[in-house]
Amino acid sequence: MRIHSHLSSKCHIAESMICDRGVFAKEKIIMGETIAIWGGKIYSAEEIDSLSKKYPSISTHPFGVFDGFYMGPVKPDDPPDDAEFFNHSCLPNAGIKGQIVLIARRDIPAGEEICFDYETTENTSNALGFKCNCKSNKCREMINGDAWLDPNFIRANKEYLSWYILCKVNNL
Ligand SMILES: [Zn+2]
Repeated sequence: MRIHSHLSSKCHIAESMICDRGVFAKEKIIMGETIAIWGGKIYSAEEIDSLSKKYPSISTHPFGVFDGFYMGPVKPDDPPDDAEFFNHSCLPNAGIKGQIVLIARRDIPAGEEICFDYETTENTSNALGFKCNCKSNKCREMINGDAWLDPNFIRANKEYLSWYILCKVNNL
């Protein structure tokens, strides 16, 4: 369902081998093409914590847009937008530009699941802390929100880090 975000018409939601459901390419997507532009309401980490007691999905779907701030549903009980079903991969075919635009990191053939690296938009364990199931040869296994401290991670993802993560890296 489209609620507050843009998702390319070349994408659809389907069952995923990584986790539950995911976003897949219906037709070939070219490197650099825009896949999604996220919208929603801004929540502080404290608001997410308190709302997640009543609305469990609010602890998993919002993503970081600034230190301690998240983009989430306009109303806490809204179902997730189609653009919120992207799964994590440690070797992703999509990446973030700015804070809210997701583009293809390489050509993505029809049928392939589209993933981005959650640690390119997240730098704490607030919304992360899970065992990865991406099965790539670059899998970091535990996704804890501390990858931004690893120079190898920064090198591999430097063109696809959320703007605020890039600011933190530059201040190290
Ligand atoms: Zn992984």
